Amino acid sequence: MARAYNFSAGPATLPLEVLEEAQGELLNYKGTGMSIMEHSHRGKAYMAVHAEAIANTRELLGLSDDYAVLFLQGGASLQFAMLPMNLLGAGQTADYTNSGSWAAKAIKEAKLIGNVNVAADCGKEIPTRVPTESELQLTPGASYVHITSNETISGAQWKTFPKTEAPLVADMSSDILSRPFDASQFGLIYAGAQKNLAPAGMALVILRKELAERVPSTVPSMLKYSTHIENDSMFNTCPCFTIYMYMLVTRWIKKTGLDALYTQNVNKAARLYSAIDSSDFYKGTAVPECRSDMNVTWRLPSEELEAAFIKEAADAGFSGLKGHRSVGGIRASIYNAFPAEGVDALVAFMKDFEARNG
Ligand SMILES: *Cc1c(COP(=O)(O)O)cnc(C)c1O
Repeated sequence: MARAYNFSAGPATLPLEVLEEAQGELLNYKGTGMSIMEHSHRGKAYMAVHAEAIANTRELLGLSDDYAVLFLQGGASLQFAMLPMNLLGAGQTADYTNSGSWAAKAIKEAKLIGNVNVAADCGKEIPTRVPTESELQLTPGASYVHITSNETISGAQWKTFPKTEAPLVADMSSDILSRPFDASQFGLIYAGAQKNLAPAGMALVILRKELAERVPSTVPSMLKYSTHIENDSMFNTCPCFTIYMYMLVTRWIKKTGLDALYTQNVNKAARLYSAIDSSDFYKGTAVPECRSDMNVTWRLPSEELEAAFIKEAADAGFSGLKGHRSVGGIRASIYNAFPAEGVDALVAFMKDFEARNG
């Protein structure tokens, strides 16, 4: 059976060679007579997987020993709450940038915990964008500054990161490990796994260990970063199979090279944006300077044409192109593992659809 071109925003397409490798060792992991998902998380076989997953992350992001790498459950959504529970003390203020749906969710949860200053708000603007560094109204002495590096729904992405005095925190759920960047400018980074890293089931959290010391004593153990740092993400049973898949994916990224992957990602996105820009029929959703390399969003002249586009595309083997239900339109998610041939095939389909309907 041919694999579909899967443009889903998440859970999303994974590298074929990683899936095949997992398939090959699914029943009998390295001659142990059982699947890796049946091994004790404290046993030798799994512990080696866990250690490599952390080592690969450290190597790919060039992390110093000041940083901890954690695999936590509850997805990125729990991080919306866990972050302020740990880092936003009583009487302090956290700065948040509102760039769209995901940033707004992070803000909503933080407001339940403490004082939030919305340092810039372009969350509802159309065309969509992220704030510029110069428009940020930051709070002196803020406990941290939060950005959403890539708004998965609106298709707007920070191309460079702001310089801030307070620790910079980013929700990188939909673009982590899609491009090289200087991780040392961040206090904390979190990302749900199911977009660019692994199947669903965990959030990757990278933080400066010293930040974890701020936690108020009333926060329950399971919700403290310090608990998970002390226990190497094994305070309770960790999501072993997801971490195993993440280990294989990060091994694949290392083999490809993050720079090479970034070049591929930029090229894939550029081909779609150029198809959009060369037509009056398709209209990009994000301002050109903020166009996401991961989630390409656009509109057609009417909702009827969008529905027809999505249906005909699905019949032609392009899955997952429907924009998020909150905004409509078309969204092509083209994460690391999405093949360039799939982008070319979609561009050809777009030209044909326009010729028939434009
Ligand atoms: C998908 C997504 C989330 C939510 O992730 P969950 O793992 O489902 O909680 C948060 N932020 C961004 C930017 C996302 O794309």
